[in-house]
This record gives sequence, structure tokens and C-alpha cells, in this order.
Amino acid sequence: MNSFLAIDQGTTSSRAIVFNSELEVVTESQKEYQLTHPNNGWVEADPCLILDTVQETITNVLNNYDGVISSCGITNQRETTIIWSKLTGKSIYPAIIWQDRRTNKLCEELKNLNHETMIKDKTGLVLDPYFSATKIKWILDNVPNARQEAEGGNLLFGTVDSFLLFNLSKEKNHLTDVTNASRTMLFNINTMEWDKDLLELFDIPVSMMPEVRSCDSNFGTLVQNEKEIAITGVIGDQQAALVGQGCFESGSMKSTYGTGCFLMVNTKNEIIKTNEGLLTTVGYKMNDEVAYALEGSIYSCGTTIQWLRDKMKFFESAKQSEAFLNPEGGSNNVHFLPAFNGLAAPYWNSDVRAGFYGITQNSSIEDMVTAAFKSICYQTKDITNILEGYDISINSLLVDGGMTSNETFCQVLSDVLQKEILKPNNAESTALGACIVSQVGFGMNLSDISIKHGKKITPSLKLKDAYGSDYLSWKTYIESSIG
Ligand code: ADP
Repeated sequence: MNSFLAIDQGTTSSRAIVFNSELEVVTESQKEYQLTHPNNGWVEADPCLILDTVQETITNVLNNYDGVISSCGITNQRETTIIWSKLTGKSIYPAIIWQDRRTNKLCEELKNLNHETMIKDKTGLVLDPYFSATKIKWILDNVPNARQEAEGGNLLFGTVDSFLLFNLSKEKNHLTDVTNASRTMLFNINTMEWDKDLLELFDIPVSMMPEVRSCDSNFGTLVQNEKEIAITGVIGDQQAALVGQGCFESGSMKSTYGTGCFLMVNTKNEIIKTNEGLLTTVGYKMNDEVAYALEGSIYSCGTTIQWLRDKMKFFESAKQSEAFLNPEGGSNNVHFLPAFNGLAAPYWNSDVRAGFYGITQNSSIEDMVTAAFKSICYQTKDITNILEGYDISINSLLVDGGMTSNETFCQVLSDVLQKEILKPNNAESTALGACIVSQVGFGMNLSDISIKHGKKITPSLKLKDAYGSDYLSWKTYIESSIG
């Protein structure tokens, strides 16, 4: 029986999972690591720590598993920006995490110079600090000698996949895949190549950029525990979840609830652009076919639960949060504005920060936790409302990610949306997606790979009206906070 290794490098942790050819987990290892917040709106991580946690989890699973591994797939947090020395492989600055807002002023300046439409036409993205382009520029402009070194051809840029490939592959490959490339704001999704005008606009030498390949390409050879494993798949984490949930048809949709929340719809060969802040992006490229996708991004999702746990000390583990969530969504008129690092779709506001509204002497921890959970559901509703405006019908939603282990949250989500929720048996859709692209890269036929769906959660009709009016009052609070 063939087995496959999936490496899932996320925002809060790194994981390695061995899957068998039935897509069952054989063994897994996970290691959390810390992000740092050196300034208001800044979010960084040590690239060595990212690499160490990845290597540690791979070593753990390979120690536990004696069988032959046919190939390996990598999935990763997207947009996060690392620049390193071509010679030593050492980064010249911490990884700037996707949530980081330090380049907001630059984005505003570029908007004032009317570059927004051109950027959207070429990349499908909104002009926002979220994406890698302004983060790269910031490092080149602020780290001593960085620009000269980059212009001399001595520095390389990569999202986390590229950094891992460079450091883990025997060949020291400097590569990326189309999905990660599509999140840099430097990749033209119409021509599927780095865009000269954008590289010029952001003043980024093309010599820093990785070569872009299909998700199911040969990315090199992983050498670990004296084993050599072919890397035959690379895909960004949200696109990996799309694949892992089996969303291969036009209109099929998934929503992942991890550190952030990302709702993604497969639009196959259609490049659909919306005016309400959804992103047009590359879903995957496999077997020489490109599938495009529409994405609604929500920044603060699991982050909110972590903050309630670590800073407010309301509970000790994310799991315990479930005990404080009112299953019927009552929060005694307390609302939460989930904007630790600004708001993404559909608001795209970098300046606004998080807050509670409606607190009285009688407000309880339960009210605040319930309001926080509802804010995640209401942001999902914002996005499904927009999609429905574009005739994308949503009968059910395929969900995954760490938060969906919380059954009460899934029920509240179903009740808020008044839609059926489908949860896979294996909540690790992201890692599963990496496994599937590596299987395709290894030569397996996509139609021979069968993905099993698990639990169905149905909405309670009796809560429809209460959630309908609560959503409107939450939205009024959000809009008044943005001004
Ligand atoms: P990522 O891949 O972005 O690192 P995960 O999919 O692993 O994220 O999800 C981790 C997030 O899920 C954390 O922010 C954590 O707070 C949240 N989480 C995990 N379990 C629960 C739970 N039972 N209830 C609520 N939130 C949870």
C-alpha cells in the first residue's frame, strides 16, 4: 500500500501527517510555535522556528512509521513573507506574517495614485497589506543593505513553501506553486506569470522571485531521517482545504475556521471579479488545468478564541470555550468587533481595532464569549450574502479547521446561516489537500481518489428570526465603528 507524507505549515503550528492510499491518517505530529507582535499591527515569526518545528514533526512521524512513503506534499500559510541569503539560507529579517498591517500607509498611497484597479485586474486581489508585495518592499527598504544585496542577486524571496523547499530539498530549489504565487500581488493570474509592471511598481528585483510551477509538479527531494522522499505537491493552505474537501466542481465551496477563516468557491476556468471585496485567486493547477476561485477572507477567527484564552484568561484551553458558548446564541445584546488586525472581506479596513459593545454590569463571560463566536458566524454570513448576489447558490457549506471540533460553534454557524453544514470525518482537510496534490504529482488519477464526507448539521428554523435581527444590530455596530 502506498503512503504519502503531508507537511502542513500553519500560522500557529506545524504538522506532519502520514496518510495511506485510502486517505486515512497513519501517524501525525504537531508542534506549536509563537508569533511576536513587536508593534501595533505588526505580526512576526522566527523563520528558524518555523523550519525547526517542521523538521521536528517530520522526524517524529518518520520515527513512528517504518513503511515506504511514495511522495510528499507541502501546504502552508500563504502571503507570509521571508527573505533569505542565497548563500547561507539564513533569513535577513523575521517572517512577516500575513496578518501584519505595517504597510497600510504604503497601500493608501498607492490607492491615492490610482493603482488599485490595475492591481485588481492583474492579480484578482484588493490593494492591501495582507499580500506579500508591500511586505517585501518594506524589508528591502528597512533592513540595512537589503536593497543592494537584492539587486546584486544575493537575496531570495519566498512564501513559506519556498523557504521550506529551499531548506528541506536536497537540490536547494527556489520554487513555488501557482496558488502561493497568486497571493503575492506580483503574479498575473491571467497570464500565470510574474508581472513585470507590478515588480517595477513595488521595486522588487525579479532575480529574488521563485520559479512558479503547477501544484502537482516535481519540487525536489526531501531528505530527512536518512530517507529521501520526492516532493510532488505544493499548494497554499486554503486552496489545499478546497482540494481536501473535494471541491472540484464549479460552485463547490468550503469554509475553513483556523487562525483566520477563509471561504472559497471553485469557479473552474472562469475568472469572476466582484465589487464587494471578495478576492479572485488561483484554486489549483493540476493535470495542466487551472481552476480559479473566489475567496472571502476573515482575519480574526481562532485568533479571537486564543485571545480570550491567553489574554482574558476566560478559559485554559480552546476546547473549554465551548462551555461558555450559549447554544442558542443569546449574548444579552453584547456584540464583538473582531478586528485585532483590522477587518478583511468585505470591509477591508486596516485601521479599525477590536472591541465589545453593549457591556453592562450584568454582562458575563458567557455573553462575551458567545458574542465573539457569533462575530465569526456573522462575518461568514456577510460573505455568503455577497456570493448569493452573484447567483452562486449555497445549499450547504463544507467546513473544516481547528475550530470545527467545537460542535456548539458548528450548530450556531448552521443556525445563523440557516444552511446545512457538512463536516468531514478528517478535520485536517488542509493536510489532506497537500496529500492529494502529491498523489496526483506522483501519477495517481484524481478520479481514483475518493474523499469521504462525515457529519451533517442542520439549522434550527426556530432561531432564524432571532439571529436575523441580531445580525443586523451587529452589522450596525461594525459599520459605525468603521465610520
Ligand atoms: P491554523 O492552521 O491556522 O494554525 P487550526 O486549523 O489548527 O489553525 O486551528 C487552530 C485555531 O482553532 C486556534 O486559533 C484555536 O484557538 C482554535 N480552536 C481549536 N479548538 C477549538 C475549540 N474547540 N473551540 C474553539 N476554537 C478552537
